[in-house]
Amino acid sequence: MSDNNVDPQELSNFNQYAHKWWDTDGEFGALHKMNPLRLDFIQQHTGIANQTILDIGCGGGILSESLALLGGEVTGIDLAEEVLSVARLHALDTGVKVNYQAISAEEHARQHPESYDRVTCMEMLEHVPDPQAIIQAAADATKPGGMLFFSTLNRSNKSLLLAVFTAEYLLNIVPKGTHQHDKFIKPSELAQMARQAGLNLIDSAGIDFNPVFKRCALSKDLSINYLMAFQKPLLEEQTDEH
Ligand code: SAH
Repeated sequence: MSDNNVDPQELSNFNQYAHKWWDTDGEFGALHKMNPLRLDFIQQHTGIANQTILDIGCGGGILSESLALLGGEVTGIDLAEEVLSVARLHALDTGVKVNYQAISAEEHARQHPESYDRVTCMEMLEHVPDPQAIIQAAADATKPGGMLFFSTLNRSNKSLLLAVFTAEYLLNIVPKGTHQHDKFIKPSELAQMARQAGLNLIDSAGIDFNPVFKRCALSKDLSINYLMAFQKPLLEEQTDEH
């Protein structure tokens, strides 16, 4: 269906900075700082050890590797080839086992329907033309009863000021031009898209970012960056909504 669900400019932005992916003080520093919080949030809801996990838009593997270190059997997919090369090299370096593949979420879900215990998709939906199709693919790849975790940037005035201006221009913590505010997603929209894909919302949490200390914490404030946990119902729970 939507194998064209890719913005080449976005991939080229990420490829351009691929070599900086694991520099914790570099362009992707924010992802490194957020990662322990994302792991916390996931672990509040589910175990990771011995679970099959699909990480969609895995980038250089910050989340993928940390999930594998906790005993997950992780497949990381992304379409930015140079970023994936960095992910593969880093995993070789650290000896962490992650199965990285250059494939779209939609195609992967077609090839592996209902195959994963957990699916993660972090900081990626705001970079694709059709986030609904990614969420549907994530849902399709998840086993009934499995859990899904998404994070993205909220389309609020506060996020425009803080996430884009502060993060990109003042602190240089993400490459300039990485984010287009109109592609950010409100929590109600993410919840609605997930509901369309047959998923139940379990929980949400905000990620507070303190630009002065460059530290983050989980919070109830979803106005900038936020996480959501969903569950794919077991077969017998699935009902036609109308
Ligand atoms: N999820 C990782 C990386 C986030 S950066 C983390 O949070 O640590 C966003 C990633 O999405 C980049 O690696 C980019 O290449 C990828 N991406 C953007 N559009 C994509 C698409 N259509 N399909 C797959 N990956 C995509």
